[in-house]
Amino acid sequence: MSFHLDYFSLKGKTALVTGARTGIGQAISVGLAAAGAHLILVGHQDNMQETQNKITELQGTYETFLIDLSDVENLKSNLQPILDKYKIDILVNNAGIIYREPAAAHDVQQWNRVLDVNINSVFTLCQTIGNQMIANKSGKIINIASLLSFQGGINVPSYTASKHAVAGLTKALANEWASHNIQVNAIAPGYISTNNTEALRNDEERSKSILERIPAGRWGQADDLAGTAVFLASRASDYVSGHVLVVDGGWMGR
Ligand code: NAP
Repeated sequence: MSFHLDYFSLKGKTALVTGARTGIGQAISVGLAAAGAHLILVGHQDNMQETQNKITELQGTYETFLIDLSDVENLKSNLQPILDKYKIDILVNNAGIIYREPAAAHDVQQWNRVLDVNINSVFTLCQTIGNQMIANKSGKIINIASLLSFQGGINVPSYTASKHAVAGLTKALANEWASHNIQVNAIAPGYISTNNTEALRNDEERSKSILERIPAGRWGQADDLAGTAVFLASRASDYVSGHVLVVDGGWMGR
């Protein structure tokens, strides 16, 4: 059958998004719901109201689960109630934290926390839900990487290490699972106006130098990521595998 616009539709699909309460995770959740998916919103804090309201406005459906992703040891068992209830078609590993401190003074506990939330939990989520997808012979996994999956960044060594690892894991899993009809890809957002980048936007000098390098001439908004997520979650991207797609207003091309 030749291409049809319905290839972008997510009707009948179930999508799990981590870090769905704010920023990019909220925008991707709402985007996937707009494309027809039922959403499993995974958050940390008990106030996901804004995301829930936005999905309800679209006549979308959701269920919310609160899981602390820094508790990697118990993550598999914490995911079990979701796996018992749902067949997950789309997994978006979006939750992530950043700790800004030069390498020489970087606190080891913070280093470990960043790696736990940004990569160790991502591996457990991919493995646990990936096994269900292997059994179902289909699935889409979208990991949220970063420009710091390619570049060194400034004063964020744990974050940079974790995001390089996210890109590596994406490619490793794509190699193993493409033959199971599971497409594993990543989105690398540029500089997006969310809580994650608040400190940068409050620093007049950094903020100005960042803006000067963005060919699009503006910071990204969380909504700028939604269309790319829908594409990578949909049948339209069935032959896209192991790709890290930058959505950065042209930053990396400069
Ligand atoms: P954000 O608003 O700070 O979102 C981070 C999300 O992660 C929050 O919803 C938070 O949930 C969740 N989270 C943090 N710790 C958690 C934990 N222990 N357990 C469960 N969830 C936890 O920032 P954002 O910019 O949207 O970040 C989303 C992703 O995009 C991150 O992976 C980030 O690294 C990546 N990214 C962002 C940018 C950018 O410019 N903003 C650029 C590149 C990549 P709670 O609020 O419920 O704690």
